[in-house]
Amino acid sequence: MRNILENMDSCVGCSACAQRCPRQCISMIPNDEGFLIPLIDEKRCNDCGLCKKVCPVLQADFSLDSTRETDFPRAWAAWSTDDDIRLNSSSGGLFSMFAESCLLRGGTVFGAAFDEGFMVRHTGISNLSELDSLRRSKYVQSDIDGCYREAEKLLKEHRPVLFSGTGCQIAGLMSFLGKPYPELLTIDVVCYGVPSPKVWSMYLDDMKKRYKGDIAAISFRDKKDGWKNYCMFIGFKNGRFYRRTAVNDTFFIGFGKNLLSRKSCYSCQFRHPRSQADLTLADFWGAERLEGIDTLDNKGVSLVISNTPKGQAALESIRDKCYLMETSFSEAASGNPRVTESAPMPRSRALFFEDLIRGMRFSSLRRKYMNPFVQTLKLSVKRILGPRSIERLKKLKRV
Ligand SMILES: Cc1cc2nc3c(=O)[nH]c(=O)nc-3n(C[C@H](O)[C@H](O)[C@H](O)COP(=O)(O)OP(=O)(O)OC[C@H]3O[C@@H](n4cnc5c(N)ncnc54)[C@H](O)[C@@H]3O)c2cc1C
Repeated sequence: MRNILENMDSCVGCSACAQRCPRQCISMIPNDEGFLIPLIDEKRCNDCGLCKKVCPVLQADFSLDSTRETDFPRAWAAWSTDDDIRLNSSSGGLFSMFAESCLLRGGTVFGAAFDEGFMVRHTGISNLSELDSLRRSKYVQSDIDGCYREAEKLLKEHRPVLFSGTGCQIAGLMSFLGKPYPELLTIDVVCYGVPSPKVWSMYLDDMKKRYKGDIAAISFRDKKDGWKNYCMFIGFKNGRFYRRTAVNDTFFIGFGKNLLSRKSCYSCQFRHPRSQADLTLADFWGAERLEGIDTLDNKGVSLVISNTPKGQAALESIRDKCYLMETSFSEAASGNPRVTESAPMPRSRALFFEDLIRGMRFSSLRRKYMNPFVQTLKLSVKRILGPRSIERLKKLKRV
């Protein structure tokens, strides 16, 4: 079987190859772990090589931006002064500020939304009334679908486009386009790793069974108990709801243990300093360290990094709608390791996916790998006996 990459574990699933293929002979299909990978129809492929030319993984070194200005990156703590937007966003709501500005100029904003089945897909919106669908992080790999092609069409018509996504999705877009467009603004989010859509779908089925109803709404970042203590919220059509802090929710436990991410995420090539976006957004964890910042309201603080003059100009254009405080990039990155480093792959990831692939039921996977009780117990032991205690207990268990 023909592959675009020698090692398909490094494929990020952006689908630039499938969208660029002139014969449309590449389909994105889920692998055993539930992540989309390209499948080439060998009978129709004429080996033109375009798929390799637009693959951001193969072009990664080539795309290290030599034109980037030396004044960048610049980092800011920021939040929207509109409390409604801030409370309904993951961090400080900066994404919505940039999106609004693009929409008000008649542009199109691309980002990740839930579909009818609450799976995560990229989509383009052109009305303010649709903006809420892109708001808030969905911690599952989104399916880019045909969005690169749609964005290219708009850009060729000189229409403003804001494209947001993970670092690899923005890198995929840039190699797909192959040239800069003045009307394009790109935003990537600092990314812990993208969890498997298959695990997400199993989690949803499990929740529907337990709550005996279909799902009406989901928020991964419910701020009812504040930004720092965010919750998974699921509302059901039968009126029942589920709300759990991240440390007590099955899916978040798997995410936090880094069991569920795509293999390529563990050695991501698209974080700083290789981000190819004009702007990078994250949570500004530890913002209280900065003099003059009051985070006691616990409504959320964004870290905004401008990587290019275009990103900086976009930030200046929304200045009157947000609180902004500049800090150094190293100060900001020191409190948020995911800005520059991938989270390591735990040994249990392979075991988790082995069990999943050989058909272990979600309830068993949950008990074995994502158990809130074990998690809470470990946290309490850690708190009481110190961080080394878990390692000591593991050694004792082995003996
Ligand atoms: C998978 C994932 C992992 C993340 N990991 C971290 C982390 O470890 N540390 C950290 O500080 N921040 C992380 N973030 C970023 C953070 O959660 C916020 O998205 C970011 O701070 C923007 O918040 P906001 O308040 O400005 O806007 P919001 O309205 O909350 O953010 C919406 C933006 O997120 C994008 N988005 C949402 N879901 C996805 C998705 N599945 N794939 C691609 N783009 C998506 C939307 O397109 C939009 O651009 C992660 C985000 C995602 C999606």
